[in-house]
Amino acid sequence: MDRKPLLAGNWKMHTNVQEAQQLAASVVQAAAKVSGRDVMIAPPYTALTAVESTISSSGVILGAQNVHWEEKGAFTGEISAAMLKDVGCEMVIIGHSERRHVFGETDQMINKRVTGALRFGLTPVFCIGETLEQREAGRTMTILENQVRAGLDNVALKSGSHLVVAYEPVWAIGTGKTATEAQAQEAHSFIRNLLADIYEKNIAGQIRILYGGSVKPENIDILMQQDDIDGALVGGAALKAESFERIICFQ
Ligand code: PEP
Repeated sequence: MDRKPLLAGNWKMHTNVQEAQQLAASVVQAAAKVSGRDVMIAPPYTALTAVESTISSSGVILGAQNVHWEEKGAFTGEISAAMLKDVGCEMVIIGHSERRHVFGETDQMINKRVTGALRFGLTPVFCIGETLEQREAGRTMTILENQVRAGLDNVALKSGSHLVVAYEPVWAIGTGKTATEAQAQEAHSFIRNLLADIYEKNIAGQIRILYGGSVKPENIDILMQQDDIDGALVGGAALKAESFERIICFQ
């Protein structure tokens, strides 16, 4: 099944408004050089509106880095899916390893965020991945299965295009260590089979699975050649205009 590649930049807690607009403008220029692929950027909340105005007439997709499951209410510090839609977001990263490991988010919270995002028409970029300790103990696939089943528990999908999964081995995020293309493909193929067990075949076949973890200009081409790798979720290299351009223009 044909799945359109998605190159996504997670800017984390970086950029003020002016820097965000400059970087977004360079992403628009880079994205215009290629066709047949989607490009998403997820700036910090404070820059969403400014970045939206910079990318509005391009095909670049606006994403956020997290979302609360309720529509509104007494949830100091949280942002709802309705609010993200209101400023032009179409996607939202959920369950990033920094949310899981630094902020203690559980599979149950992540499941509620996925459900809440979908209810308001936002596409979740649902992140999963094992730690180094789990990989070395031979538990990678068990961990991935538990995270997928818990995170997608009771999550109905009308179309596979409404969900993106990002496989991000924790030991490869921000460390400069990338999974080999074989390690990434093995995990992606496992996740693809799992999705086919949860959803109807045609829906599962449409869900894009991104690889994340020290993706850079030097490794994007080989990663994108793997059958089950449909794109990349990029942290550090998405903050440098030239690197992200090369990633967007993968061959
Ligand atoms: C990420 O933040 O999702 C990520 C993969 O970071 P990096 O590319 O810097 O490893």
